[in-house]
Amino acid sequence: MLPIGRIPPLVAALLTGGLLSVVQWKVSPPMLLAERFIPGSGWAEVVLLSVYAALVCRAMLDPTRQPKWRRWTWRLFSAVFYGQLLLGLAGIEKCLMTGKLHLPVPALIAAGPAYRGGGFFMLGLFLTTVILVGPAWCSHLCYLGAWDDVAASRVKVPRALPRWVRLGKVAFALAVLFAAFLMGVAGVEGTFAAVAGGTFGIAGIAIMVLVSARTGAMVHCLFWCPIGLLATWLGRVSPFRLVVESSCTRCTLCFRACRYDALAPEDLERGRPAASCTLCGDCIRSCRHDSIRYRFAGLSGPRARTLFIVLVASLHALFLGLARI
Ligand code: SF4
Ligand code: SF4
Repeated sequence: MLPIGRIPPLVAALLTGGLLSVVQWKVSPPMLLAERFIPGSGWAEVVLLSVYAALVCRAMLDPTRQPKWRRWTWRLFSAVFYGQLLLGLAGIEKCLMTGKLHLPVPALIAAGPAYRGGGFFMLGLFLTTVILVGPAWCSHLCYLGAWDDVAASRVKVPRALPRWVRLGKVAFALAVLFAAFLMGVAGVEGTFAAVAGGTFGIAGIAIMVLVSARTGAMVHCLFWCPIGLLATWLGRVSPFRLVVESSCTRCTLCFRACRYDALAPEDLERGRPAASCTLCGDCIRSCRHDSIRYRFAGLSGPRARTLFIVLVASLHALFLGLARI
């Protein structure tokens, strides 16, 4: 009989392999990169990505290895995503999704449709992810968020952010989306809108370099990017939560692990992190009393965590194979 510890990686492999097989079999023109270059080899890519999902899942199930694996797999995805974009721009068009370029700035996932009044594909993909794993999009799957993590990781212990950030980001996100909507209503030309979107993206990178890299907090994702706010708000529809149990001694060690400004004394009092929590899981290892847990309706803490990791590992492998501009 299969040892119980092997079941979650096996499920991740089957989930990844099953979904990629449907894509390989049914979608035309081919979505998998290998298939685009050598017909038939997409099946080998399906097998490789399924095995990879199982390996990632197995490693992340170990709480001591989860933070490192989350980080490195997330960075790998970002490198593959932008690497394909660069190759596409260099003339290898097979590395692009459709040949029609879009700006690789996550804010445009929502601002783009607000401006155009259409083009909901990326928004739909984002929402599907958010329904499955809540705000974990912003700590495991976003192509640009991984850069903010690189910047913030330069500081070992993140600084607490001023309280106004929690409210200020709501006003800022609404202002960005409303500005995009107004540009659409006013009939602002596509070229100007693209320049505005590009400038927003470059300003975001400046925030990573100038603020996140100095504070150790993910300031770009916490404040600048409106998708961060949408992920944490809409992520409420996902049944996954992080809870602080009554065994918490308020030692505050977990504060030092959270780069998302989601743990402060009042959050521990309430028994849950602030709304900016992205379910990254970094704080779990830092708690000596095992007081922080994932929660999912009807499941014990360890089982909820296992289910969460099976899903994020599978989504990561799927994104690695399918996500491109
Ligand atoms: S906040 Fe924006 S850039 Fe940051 S991880 Fe989320 S979607 Fe990506
Ligand atoms: S509270 Fe924990 S899981 Fe949530 S963002 Fe902070 S470190 Fe990550």
